[in-house]
Amino acid sequence: MHDLYDLAVIGGGINGVGIATDAAGRGLSVFLCEKDDLASHTSSASSKLIHGGLRYLEHKEFRLVREALVEREILLKKAPHLVHPMRFIMPHQPHLRPAWLIRAGLFIYDYLGKREQLMGSEQVFFENSASPLKANFSRGFEYSDCTVDDARLVVLNAIQAREHGAKIMTRTQCVSAQRMAGVWVLELEKDGQQLWVKAKALVNATGPWVAQFIQQELKLKPSYGIRLVQGSHIIVPKLYMQNKAFILQNYDQRIVFVIPYLNQYSLIGTTDREYTGDRNNVEISPEEIHYLLDVSNNHFKTQLTAVDIVASFSGVRPLCDDESDNPAAVTRDYTLALDVHHDEAPLLSVFGGKLTTYRKLAEAALEHLAPYFGDLKDRWTAEALLPGAEQFSSIEQLAAEIEHKVKGLDEHTIQRWAYAYGTRVWHFIKQVVSVHELGQSFGHGLYAREVDYLVQYEWAVTSEDILKRRTKLYLQFDKNEVQELEKYLTVLHVRGLPKEVA
Ligand SMILES: Cc1cc2nc3c(=O)[nH]c(=O)nc-3n(C[C@H](O)[C@H](O)[C@H](O)COP(=O)(O)OP(=O)(O)OC[C@H]3O[C@@H](n4cnc5c(N)ncnc54)[C@H](O)[C@@H]3O)c2cc1C
Repeated sequence: MHDLYDLAVIGGGINGVGIATDAAGRGLSVFLCEKDDLASHTSSASSKLIHGGLRYLEHKEFRLVREALVEREILLKKAPHLVHPMRFIMPHQPHLRPAWLIRAGLFIYDYLGKREQLMGSEQVFFENSASPLKANFSRGFEYSDCTVDDARLVVLNAIQAREHGAKIMTRTQCVSAQRMAGVWVLELEKDGQQLWVKAKALVNATGPWVAQFIQQELKLKPSYGIRLVQGSHIIVPKLYMQNKAFILQNYDQRIVFVIPYLNQYSLIGTTDREYTGDRNNVEISPEEIHYLLDVSNNHFKTQLTAVDIVASFSGVRPLCDDESDNPAAVTRDYTLALDVHHDEAPLLSVFGGKLTTYRKLAEAALEHLAPYFGDLKDRWTAEALLPGAEQFSSIEQLAAEIEHKVKGLDEHTIQRWAYAYGTRVWHFIKQVVSVHELGQSFGHGLYAREVDYLVQYEWAVTSEDILKRRTKLYLQFDKNEVQELEKYLTVLHVRGLPKEVA
């Protein structure tokens, strides 16, 4: 017997989980499989911005920018613990872009989308002694956007999908799918085992694999081409004290962000270069490191070398091919391709898209699929809070409550929990009243209690799932500490906490 679902979604990046959540909330039975961990590819390698994309105005992407600006406000309300306002400073470089052009761009940026919570733009002047910038930068412009923990945004959507009845399987690859008797029959592989699932409709949200999946696994012809454009980031010790980001203009007309990251670091990125390598292992190149250090050093008093780099990460943007010559100019907008003939089961493939617009992309996907499901409920995600946002008032308030409840817990961990879990933190704190009741300590504020929760409720399996994508503690953990955690996980998996609560 094969399970029959209304919808099968392939890919556990932001677009796959976004579509699964929306569909499950509208009453469809949903299955999602991800070949690795949730968010283990592009969706954890982003600049971590929920933004309109100021620079896309130069490429006349008004539709995308407007939609993204509106989504910014919606996401601020949906996940106030995870999405945070940030001011961005653009040092003025008159030979690269004249002041009137920047002012016009920022005016459009301020008013193109609905702006309720975020401050508008303004001109700013830098006082040399107080400014982290070199003396030749005397003025600039400041505007608002937001930051997010990208991987956790994916996990929260997956939790919400599950709470609406979706079945989510990680480390499960779809190796083939074919239309048979009006439904899709999917062949899956998990831990060397073969599984079969049937669905009335199929969504291909495989990101960088979208075209390959259509050709190889489905044996069909893609309607659009895909451009893989690599983007890399470096993480360095905090370059300056201000809690503001910089948007730096480079002589090649590109921009590079420098963003405060996890209290102690600055995140510098990104790059744009055509990519033809292995999509499973995307790594920063020496040229990209050089490029990012150069842009930073051209602007800041603090001069960096490769030795200062604490970590780096790299991903590929799965962009819809619009035949642009310049990788930086390829459209960041998304395209949904519906493949259906006569009475066959439909296939919807996602080309392109931004983290910021995942919710709108999911709504558009459901509109395409609605004709195949008679009594589909109305759209609902704009108003719905993401897990952790329920009864949330502010980070400060939640942090104070955690501190009061769990005696002896360090300030850094209190803050980390408030940001990462919001009010869902009570799901693993439960009856705990002191730090001594949190179980084995792995260092840096990670205790067995949190690890158990991540394994049981957030699909975490390996130390990398926990340290890189669920907690971001990987920047602090040394080899021995990682080994301790791995030993614990081995025992935990043998002991058998339920890995899925679907
Ligand atoms: C450098 C960089 C910076 C960016 N910065 C931002 C930003 O600041 N803000 C923003 O809004 N957007 C940003 N983006 C864009 C955003 O990150 C991507 O658009 C988004 O993450 C794409 O998500 P996805 O779900 O389509 O792809 P992915 O996250 O790659 O997910 C696809 C998933 O499908 C899985 N998969 C593939 N084949 C199979 C199969 N056969 N079976 C099962 N699973 C399969 C893969 O393992 C993968 O996890 C950035 C992108 C990059 C690269």
